[in-house]
Amino acid sequence: MTDAEAQRTADTQTAPDMLIVRNPADGSELARIPVTTASEVALHTADALELHRSGVWSGVAPRERAAALLRLADLMQRDAETLARFDSEDAGKPVTECRDNDVPGAIESIRWFAEALDKQYGRVSTTASDVLAFTEREPFGVVAAILPWNYPLAMACWKIGPALAVGNTIILKPAEATPRSTLYLAQLAEEAGIPAGILRVLPGTGAETGAALATDPNVEAISFTGSTATGRKILTASASTNLKRVSLELGGKSPQVLMADALAFGDRLIDGLVEAAFLTAGQNCTAGSRILVHDSIHDEVVDRLSRAAAALRVGVPSDKATQIGPVIDAVAADRILAAINVAVAAGARIASGGTEVSVVTGGRYIAPTVLTDLPADAEILRTEIFGPVVTVQRFGSRDEAIALANAVDYGLAASVWTKDLENALALARGIRAGLVSVGAYSEGDMTVPFGGWQHSGFGGAEKSLQAFAQWSREKAIWVQLT
Ligand code: NAD
Repeated sequence: MTDAEAQRTADTQTAPDMLIVRNPADGSELARIPVTTASEVALHTADALELHRSGVWSGVAPRERAAALLRLADLMQRDAETLARFDSEDAGKPVTECRDNDVPGAIESIRWFAEALDKQYGRVSTTASDVLAFTEREPFGVVAAILPWNYPLAMACWKIGPALAVGNTIILKPAEATPRSTLYLAQLAEEAGIPAGILRVLPGTGAETGAALATDPNVEAISFTGSTATGRKILTASASTNLKRVSLELGGKSPQVLMADALAFGDRLIDGLVEAAFLTAGQNCTAGSRILVHDSIHDEVVDRLSRAAAALRVGVPSDKATQIGPVIDAVAADRILAAINVAVAAGARIASGGTEVSVVTGGRYIAPTVLTDLPADAEILRTEIFGPVVTVQRFGSRDEAIALANAVDYGLAASVWTKDLENALALARGIRAGLVSVGAYSEGDMTVPFGGWQHSGFGGAEKSLQAFAQWSREKAIWVQLT
């Protein structure tokens, strides 16, 4: 059972037909939002299909779709404070993170896809002269996106940007904990002139609303971002129903590899490690949660990292000085603390943190934690913790570093810290992951494809021009000329 499912099971006893949106900062209730039932999902998808076929969105000139999406980006800019507040309150993320990073990133992604949408071309095949054969891409029709809670607006925009750009009608299912920014986004979309019903937000539980979308015969493509466990269910649902196209962006256990010369990066190195490990209290799919350090610099890195972790300000998300907010809920907090305790019982040393911090009653806050001296078979080295916990392991050679980096089932992201070109390229090529950064902790910008390998997912990149392929399908047309 994922954290969200366990929390929902607890809340269901209070209000079975409602999502109770709680502020992770203090557990207070922010909103009650009706769960979209499976039968309501079916009505929505049937209506969405009719709307798609009417051509009210899919049939208009790409420039008009671009203009509407650009207006949406402008409206998001106008209401950026509101959007940032919703995500900060619902997800417990520091408000500065939402205001300075997540919301601007979401706006930029809508603009980027809008600007790129009419710069896509089909292809003409090299056939005999009595034939014209070409390919073009068409929207699927009704598509769905199921979202996680940690980047509610940003994940929504990575999906609606390309999906709407190519002419689909899209249904978003936000995570139970974080529906408010996407519901607001749907209002802004209408205000921007995107016809009503082309973007629908159906809040609800995974078990009811999400599962209904995953099995719905009118939905022809689904893009899922969330845990690997739920990703498997989405894939199974597709396999056992209408074989809808599935794209999965799942969890991670991303390594940060520090070669012997890594300290030459100076403060940038420690800042990068801290950001990678503790951004969004480590509740980040690309969290650099495994630090792999060359023997010769191990002790100095542990020392500097531990001091930097201990200096981070843990506090309420609304405080602009806060760097580490609460974890999403009590279920997550208990799971993270249990994982730390199991690691310590197996021989790990806590170099920093390791405990719960008392900030506000009702919220669950965990000190940024650095674990060292772990036995090679420690469970925490392989499983995604999704909290402010980083492990440090040592290695003696480049090959050993590559082997350690690849010793997990995930393959989302990695960072390599060295100024030696040969080492950098050998590591970048040797590590199995969808994204490897050198000399940085980075997810790249909108021009860079983003997508995981292995248990971190498959099915096409988010971001970059490749994202359009995730939301459209190719048709070949053969014209016999004589
Ligand atoms: P989760 O899997 O618990 O939930 C994600 C979404 O799936 C929610 O909207 C939930 O309601 C829905 N869901 C649950 N059961 C379902 C079912 N049976 N059918 C259909 N939908 C269902 O994940 P979470 O706790 O919200 O998010 C955390 C996870 O997401 C982490 O593993 C994290 O690494 C991953 N994540 C990945 C990326 C990426 O881009 N790769 C980005 C952000 C988060």
